[in-house]
Amino acid sequence: MIHLQNRMSIINSGIDRTIILLVHKNNTLPIDRRTEGKLPMKKTHIPVIRKTHIKWMALLLCVNVMSMSCMQPPKKSRLQTKDQNHAFVLPEASPFTIGKTVPVPGKLYSIDTSKSGDVVYLAGNLPLIISVPHGGERVPSDIPDRKGFCDGMVINRNNDVKTIELAYDIINAIREKTHGKYPHVIINTLSRTQIDQNRGWGVDCNPITGRGGQAWKDFHEHFIGDVAVPEVLKTNHTGLFIDLHGKPDNYGADIMVGYNLTATDLSNPDSKLNTSAKAYAEKSSIRFLSKKLHAETDFAGLLRGKSSIHENFGSLLQDGMDELNRTHKKKYSVSPRHDLKSPILNLSGGYNIQAFCGVRDDGIDNEYGYTDSRFISGFQLEVCREIRTKNPQIRMEFARKLADAVFIFMSRIGIIERV
Ligand SMILES: [Zn+2]
Repeated sequence: MIHLQNRMSIINSGIDRTIILLVHKNNTLPIDRRTEGKLPMKKTHIPVIRKTHIKWMALLLCVNVMSMSCMQPPKKSRLQTKDQNHAFVLPEASPFTIGKTVPVPGKLYSIDTSKSGDVVYLAGNLPLIISVPHGGERVPSDIPDRKGFCDGMVINRNNDVKTIELAYDIINAIREKTHGKYPHVIINTLSRTQIDQNRGWGVDCNPITGRGGQAWKDFHEHFIGDVAVPEVLKTNHTGLFIDLHGKPDNYGADIMVGYNLTATDLSNPDSKLNTSAKAYAEKSSIRFLSKKLHAETDFAGLLRGKSSIHENFGSLLQDGMDELNRTHKKKYSVSPRHDLKSPILNLSGGYNIQAFCGVRDDGIDNEYGYTDSRFISGFQLEVCREIRTKNPQIRMEFARKLADAVFIFMSRIGIIERV
């Protein structure tokens, strides 16, 4: 921006000088604005204006004017997330009172009764919710470390490094695409050593009291359950939910789309996924989408097929990644998709898509009680470490490809108007 402003002032000052000289084309003394009303410049310093000079000056004026008219208005600036050392910082959050605050799209909030900044919500105006549960790295001393086991497994305390930065790249890519609109984004800034925002509330997995317990509630109950989902349903009746994560490199496909279906589930042929008393569709995070699109008999098509009717998200994203791969000589791949239907490894997704995409678990609809979330469909998105951390340019380009795929997908499945 500073560079652009400098360029503008150079052009403007060029026009000023040209106009002043043209005004005095009848060989009268040119006026230097800095000396206007004072002594004229010495004659030896005054250039003699001839007809040929006037032609050149007129040409210069035209070029300057053309430069001005060709110049696009400056693009909307990226959301400011860097400090003077170019380190990533979240903007300061405004206090949010549940039931009172009317969220303003593009504004960042934190629940007023909690420690500000532990969990933040970027208010949106699109039928798209993105949650970032594992990107935080803050370790305040008043939240105890998680220890032992969670859901019968040794506690995983690894953060998904730079997923908050990736989320902001996605937000900016979406703003570019939509002339300034925002998804709803819920970000946890606390380290996974203290809280796991993709696991349930309870003594085994998460703190239930104090600052940590409050942060869990802010993320799930308040900002997603009480605010983002109702906001989306109020204006759009349905929406897409993406739970954004980071996975290690060299572990299956570089980008994994999890629909609450394991690699074992995906190893079944399409015919079995489409039958089996609809069990796979019912347990998936696109359960209501398959009903909405009357895709129960072609659930596999929606999940990993490729047709003009039920194109799947993995294939759409792979189309974009193929372009990125050509540009950067990479081989990034996405699973599942139409030509990688049964990946050997695929992270299926966890608590968040189960809670907010209305999956049927053990015969119970919407077991976690976020009742309206049954109108939301979505998936967990796992992005490899290399894309997230190695090259900010590639991360930004990935965010653009992701935004493209998300909008095509949302239009194909009827969440937004078909594009
Ligand atoms: Zn994660």
